[in-house]
Amino acid sequence: MQLKEKTSFYKVCFDSMQVGILVFNSEKDIVLVNNPLLKIFGIEKEKLLQKKVDDLIKNKNIINRFIQHPTLEEFNETIELTGIHNDGYEFFIALNFGKMKYEGECYYKALISDITVRKQKEEEISDLNIYLEKEVKHRNNELEKVIEKLKISLNKEKELNNLKTKFIALASHEFKTPLSAILSSTELMAKYAELQNFEKQSEHLEKVKAMINHLNRMLDDLLTLENIENSNFVSNFTEFNLSKLVQEILLNTKSLLKKDQVVLFENNANEPIYHDSKILSIIVTNLLYNAIKYSSTNGHIEVKIKTDLNNIYFTIEDNGIGIPENEKKLIFNRFFRAKNALYYPGTGVGLNIVKGYVEGLNGTISFESKENEGTIFNVQLPKILINEKENFIN
Ligand code: ADP
Repeated sequence: MQLKEKTSFYKVCFDSMQVGILVFNSEKDIVLVNNPLLKIFGIEKEKLLQKKVDDLIKNKNIINRFIQHPTLEEFNETIELTGIHNDGYEFFIALNFGKMKYEGECYYKALISDITVRKQKEEEISDLNIYLEKEVKHRNNELEKVIEKLKISLNKEKELNNLKTKFIALASHEFKTPLSAILSSTELMAKYAELQNFEKQSEHLEKVKAMINHLNRMLDDLLTLENIENSNFVSNFTEFNLSKLVQEILLNTKSLLKKDQVVLFENNANEPIYHDSKILSIIVTNLLYNAIKYSSTNGHIEVKIKTDLNNIYFTIEDNGIGIPENEKKLIFNRFFRAKNALYYPGTGVGLNIVKGYVEGLNGTISFESKENEGTIFNVQLPKILINEKENFIN
């Protein structure tokens, strides 16, 4: 007898295959298995042959469907199902179904592999993927935040550089003019001293004083700006007399008045108020200096102060050059100077500071102006109640 005809040879081949083979009939009775299948399910042959397919494979519906429609496309591919081990636990199996006929009877076969290890690896990989995705998202978010922060600081840096450039241009121009005026006045003072012309000498002394005051104010403005910028300003509320404060300011500005220029003061604030006198002084001084600066000789300036139950009001009016209509909206921008103001000395920071302070104190500032006719600035500031002071600039 040839080897290919020997049943025992077939059996050896059958049992030495890499996959488990399970043959069952349409009643789901198990009729034939190989040794690898016994190993996969951890069961002895005799015991297994008494069982049904449903005892080995959890997915009854799929087995039923295969028996009923074995030609369905889904059964052409490897299917992953759940096996039931003899010890009771469930595990992953991969199956390839097939149908065959023997002596007129229909039989169904399944080639089965234990894919537990592969599944575990797949799960580990999928977990790792989820973890990596999360990690990448997290890192991306962090990166975006860092980029955002960098952008902000870069913009700040750019803005600062811009300010520095503007300041250097401004300082070289605005500081140079009064300094050369001081120099020429002091030279003239020396000359007039020699000539004993004391009238002219004191005229130039006044000019020097006015120039030094002007330089001082510019420096004050720039320092105040820096303080506001760095939130260094500490407000200091005290009780004081507002009309006295404004009168002092008027006195200090006297030396700046041009020929025949007059300042009228209307006072309707007689009771002491509780506020930051330094800030109020900066506000009034800036507006008054502008009114003087931007109006002509024999100009007419009016300063009005008023208080009511809740507010303090300042009005500063001049009949000077006015603000051109198309530049009105820019007037509070830092370093902005209207075209018609360029013949006058200035830095363009005063109104920006005033607005910063007024708004910091929850007040409002507005103006009305007509070119070549004049300007009125109105400031309204809420009075400070003693227990309220923490709410303001500090
Ligand atoms: P500066 O007077 O140093 O230029 P300010 O910030 O005080 O800076 O004012 C900004 C600009 O607003 C001025 O350059 C000027 O164009 C305009 N301005 C302010 N006050 C007046 C005023 N009373 N009359 C006309 N223009 C004014």
